[in-house]
Amino acid sequence: MVSDGLDAIFSPRSIAVVGASRHRGKVGYAIMHNLIVNEYQGTVYPVNPNATSVHGVRAYPTVLDIPDPVDLAIVTVPAEVALEAVEACGRKGVRGLVVITAGFREIGGPGAEREAKLLDLCRSHGMTMVGPNCMGVINTHPEVRMDATFAPTPPLRGTISFMTQSGALGVAILDHARSINVGFAKFCSLGNKAQVSGNDLLEAWAADPETKTILMYIENFGNPKNFVRIAREVTKRKPIIAVKSGRSEAGSRAAVSHTGSLGGSDLAADAVFAQTGVQRANSIEELFDDAMAFSLQPLPRGPRVAVVTDAGGPGIMCVDELVAQGLQLAELAPSTVDSMRAWAPPEAALANPVDLIASATAEDYERAMDAVLADPGVDACIAVYVPPVVTDEVLVARSIWTAAKRRDKTVLCTFLGRSEDSPGFVELVQNGIPSYLFPESAARALAAMHRRTMYLARPEGSVKRFDVDRSRTEPIVTEARGRGPGRVADADAWRLLEAYGLRTARAEVVRDAKAAANAASRIGFPVVIKALGPDLVHKTELKAVALDLRDGAAVRSEATAMARRLTARGLALDGFLVQEFVRGGKEVILGMTRDKVFGPLILFGLGGVYVEYLKDVAFGIPPLTDEDARRMIRSIRTYPLLEGVRGEAPSDVEALTDALERFSQMVLDLDGVDEIDLNPVIVLGKGEGYRVVDARFVLGPSA
Ligand code: ADP
Ligand code: MG
Repeated sequence: MVSDGLDAIFSPRSIAVVGASRHRGKVGYAIMHNLIVNEYQGTVYPVNPNATSVHGVRAYPTVLDIPDPVDLAIVTVPAEVALEAVEACGRKGVRGLVVITAGFREIGGPGAEREAKLLDLCRSHGMTMVGPNCMGVINTHPEVRMDATFAPTPPLRGTISFMTQSGALGVAILDHARSINVGFAKFCSLGNKAQVSGNDLLEAWAADPETKTILMYIENFGNPKNFVRIAREVTKRKPIIAVKSGRSEAGSRAAVSHTGSLGGSDLAADAVFAQTGVQRANSIEELFDDAMAFSLQPLPRGPRVAVVTDAGGPGIMCVDELVAQGLQLAELAPSTVDSMRAWAPPEAALANPVDLIASATAEDYERAMDAVLADPGVDACIAVYVPPVVTDEVLVARSIWTAAKRRDKTVLCTFLGRSEDSPGFVELVQNGIPSYLFPESAARALAAMHRRTMYLARPEGSVKRFDVDRSRTEPIVTEARGRGPGRVADADAWRLLEAYGLRTARAEVVRDAKAAANAASRIGFPVVIKALGPDLVHKTELKAVALDLRDGAAVRSEATAMARRLTARGLALDGFLVQEFVRGGKEVILGMTRDKVFGPLILFGLGGVYVEYLKDVAFGIPPLTDEDARRMIRSIRTYPLLEGVRGEAPSDVEALTDALERFSQMVLDLDGVDEIDLNPVIVLGKGEGYRVVDARFVLGPSA
């Protein structure tokens, strides 16, 4: 139903502007104005009880007085009369609504009530609504040509569709896009998302042939689970580039008060983007840098980049950023270099970066670009141009796009020291070459494109289902629940892990020092002993861990000393965990916390006692596919340590992947558990697996 309604919203044959105004400065004036000057192809009906015409078009006192059918109503009247106007729209049989009017949920209390009533009216009359509290919608299709916004800048036609949760930002973005010659297929300001959500638009735009690239400005995810499911599908077909605000803690709070809803935590958002293939831009500027690249150029087939420049410094800046972003400087074939030697000045440096020096002409650029783009070792090229005073930058721009058109390789350009409306810039962008003011921006945009190439090539992976006997695990949680919120007893934690097939270090829970020594001989030396008790959370700090004990006497004396120490400090002691001592290996952490918006978040990182300080972790949203698990493991900074550095044997990453997948299933099953820390999990060499040696499960207040 939403998709039918969206059709009425984006391709209406007729529009009623409810609250159309004759007074400049009013929203109802601007919307009428934009529809007319941008040559809306359908019929417009101004609705205004106090005017016979608006902008020369006959006006009607109410929607019900309009003699013909109305597909879409744009509502701009004040909040106090908006419900009445919407009700009239419903009776008229209007199918789509764009409610610009503010004064709903975003103002709290009475506003929230008003929004609920608005939504009821939409439902009971079968209307689909964008907004309220939004700035309108645009469709640049030649058969529609609808600018139903109050933004001062009409958009150019293009292949990008953009949705924004902030209206004001929408205006600024339409402005900026125009200045850099970026055009749109569709635009939607979502406002309060009372009915039509970002997810609805994603689905609609995925199927829209006019839309090649989807841009989003997000403040919060209304339904994160749906977003994950939908975005995962859409990114296989089209790039989605998103900016999400609320990165900082303070920023998140501002977003809450701004839209009257909860912004999810940023780490969770990062995890969602990584898992769904949504490209995250760090700023509005980057959003457009990337959008321009994606909408104008083909994706690079690989990471090898050639740089052609007329100035050394900017060329090197470009190369530095390319490398920092994970791309490579292409190695040019000797024949490529030789072919350039035939015409290049002797001072030119012809290895990559190709430095044509300041005297470079437009012809030099064309020949150099031809040469590097023909090289099979080159996947993409960035042309860096610092216009000297004398040459005609338009000629250089023309040579660049001419050479680029001859091959289907990715070409981006940077014209330094110019502005976005300089003639060379305009020439490039209008001819399909994304152009940037700085070499780093070009390098970053190319890197974003390459990430998409990699994303499309990566195996999809699948969510495995492990055989777990829930009749064994459920009573453990229920019993723990009965004892109230807080930590789950160690013995129970170990049983849960084992039920999910996670490999734990061989261990026994015992009551006293003598029993510890006996258990140790059953387990086999060397062993570790750990004191157990309700307050013994960080055992290392309390000296409640003794490692590498070689015989029964050592176990007995350590356990006795430990008990004495802890009791002297007033800490209750329940007994000891006697555990196999795991020699060698690397310490990692598997963890879970619950996010207010996204639900459970899985964490993987370099573990051990320093985890809080190093913060080298990756997040994932369950259920994890095997590929998600692998990607999380590979994405931490210290991953090379797991592969083995300086002659060390590589760790068993496959076993860790399996552990993460099992952990993911456990996390989804144990919905009463609020937090899990398996820290550390000691990963052994390839083929030897891993051992969980410390586990902490925390139950939430029962829901
Ligand atoms: P806590 O985190 O409460 O201080 P742990 O059980 O994690 O206590 O132990 C602290 C550290 O001791 C671990 O990070 C690890 O380096 C080491 N350790 C603990 N158990 C073992 C074991 N069974 N084998 C080898 N090392 C261990
Ligand atoms: Mg620990």
